[in-house]
Amino acid sequence: MLVEKLDQYFQREERTRPRDYFYVSEVGKCPRQIYYAIKGFPRPPLDGLTARKLAVGDEAHKRLAQALFGMGVVVAAEVPIPPGNLFHGRCDLIVSLDGKNYVVEVKTAHPYTFDQMASAPRRDHYLQLQLYLHYFGIPQGVILAENKATQELREFVVPLDKEEMGRVIRTFERLQRTIFVAGQLPPLPGQEEKRDWEFDQCRYCPYVPFCSEDVAEIPGHNEVDLAAAETAGPRTLFDDLT
Ligand code: SF4
Repeated sequence: MLVEKLDQYFQREERTRPRDYFYVSEVGKCPRQIYYAIKGFPRPPLDGLTARKLAVGDEAHKRLAQALFGMGVVVAAEVPIPPGNLFHGRCDLIVSLDGKNYVVEVKTAHPYTFDQMASAPRRDHYLQLQLYLHYFGIPQGVILAENKATQELREFVVPLDKEEMGRVIRTFERLQRTIFVAGQLPPLPGQEEKRDWEFDQCRYCPYVPFCSEDVAEIPGHNEVDLAAAETAGPRTLFDDLT
């Protein structure tokens, strides 16, 4: 009775967002999935359960950020990457501790994922933080993870990894040429791309029907609306499935 109504209440359509840049949250994602998202291919609506999970994650971010503000260590929040770069994105926080600045990325994790992060952060979280360190010129950062079920906290202090960032930037420059210059659908991901995958992305992919047929154009559309993309946010359906 109420559950069904609440599921419908929370369910929402995901806007299609054609654009000409990458989001930080796309590092570690399947290049074909990135292509389909960039070109604004249609995707299924966000179901009520996933929407509520995302809302729980948002609340945890706010709660932890408020606490850090209360402690007086926050230098800046929601800081965007300078315009004109390959990536768009906003880091959660920059804090100052003992005279050093740290970029802080707050992540919420399913208990299973949280357990897997006992000794190291998730690779995609690590790479996202590395991008912020690279673009802000800050040599260190923190991944602050909260267990969604127990609110247990875990942190990973990491230095800027210039070698890894060089590899990531080169990979996305190639992808930029493939998608934005040549306008081509990237080839099916190989072992190199899958090295950065945290899980089998094909299993949760909303673009399987297009991908399996190598579809490179939105059926019935040849033009993309880049102006509409400027008002769209970075969240995608599968960003927070942790
Ligand atoms: S089905 Fe797999 S390979 Fe194809 S776009 Fe989705 S994640 Fe990528």
